[in-house]
Amino acid sequence: MNKGRIIVISGPSGAGKSTVLRRILANHPDFFFSVSATTRGPRPNEVPGVHYHFLTKEQFRELLDKDLLMEYNEYAAGDYYGTPAQPIFDVMNQGGTAVLDVDPNGAFQVLRKVPDAITIFLAPPSFQELRSRLENRGDTAPEKIESRLKQARWEIQQAERYTYLLVNDQVDDCVARLEAILADRPEAQQSLYANNTNLDIFKEVL
Ligand code: 5GP
Repeated sequence: MNKGRIIVISGPSGAGKSTVLRRILANHPDFFFSVSATTRGPRPNEVPGVHYHFLTKEQFRELLDKDLLMEYNEYAAGDYYGTPAQPIFDVMNQGGTAVLDVDPNGAFQVLRKVPDAITIFLAPPSFQELRSRLENRGDTAPEKIESRLKQARWEIQQAERYTYLLVNDQVDDCVARLEAILADRPEAQQSLYANNTNLDIFKEVL
């Protein structure tokens, strides 16, 4: 019987997911952050085994063939990303909390396997803000910005299939609202997707 829980967090590149996740994981050293496998190359600040397991396409295919991934997706320019299944099941069997940072395709695959996974979508305050964050942070090549934005538009359109929606306009506030969800406090209701459908970001993309 599964006693633990899975928290799935999605949001477009530039929504500030890594910052929010870093804060949450620092607040909860007992949480298990699922380190994904990917075939994309490491960015300068990324540590193998900490941020991702960086694999060749052949190694990734082997994981798929052996059915060792809980979900996977081919993202952007032909790179694969996937969640190793066994560590998640171990955490759940031990009654722990596993946190997954996956795209909407991955989130829906997880939900099919674990219907009571808690799904949270992290949205940027506006599309314009997302564009300037991507342009200013300097780790996305200019020619890739448009494809990232196209992907972001699609991802934001999927937000309605998540239980919770958080807009990351102020990190402290966003972390506080996420903590309320994790602790199942009454104010978490304010972050239900259904209570946030009139936000500006949706007027821009829907
Ligand atoms: P990045 O290359 O910027 O680290 O991540 C690109 C996208 O891949 C992000 O939206 C991130 O959530 C998603 N991603 C990271 N790991 C996984 C994974 O294991 N599975 C899926 N489906 N998406 C992932």
